[in-house]
Amino acid sequence: MTVSCHCENVTLDFDQLPQVVRDCDCPICNRLGALWADFESSEVTVRATTPTATYRWGDGSYEMHHCPTCGCTTHYTPAEQSGETGVGINLRLLDRRQLESIPIQA
Ligand SMILES: [Zn+2]
Repeated sequence: MTVSCHCENVTLDFDQLPQVVRDCDCPICNRLGALWADFESSEVTVRATTPTATYRWGDGSYEMHHCPTCGCTTHYTPAEQSGETGVGINLRLLDRRQLESIPIQA
């Protein structure tokens, strides 16, 4: 599977769609309207012609990435020092019909 931001600067490749997408209710995810698919870092390939812009908040354990050209929130990654390995892909980048076929987990 491949998803991309609107201008296709950022693309993310992964093997298969998840069983559920996660509708996180934290203050930033509320604002972004993101629906997350959780993967291990090794399962995702991120390509960006122009590097993504990042945003950290709170304890800084995760970085939210967005395309600096079109502004789409594409994914989050753990900060280096956090010891976490999970990567989240914003499945709002997916075709709407495909997204609607996946149950949402609060
Ligand atoms: Zn873009």
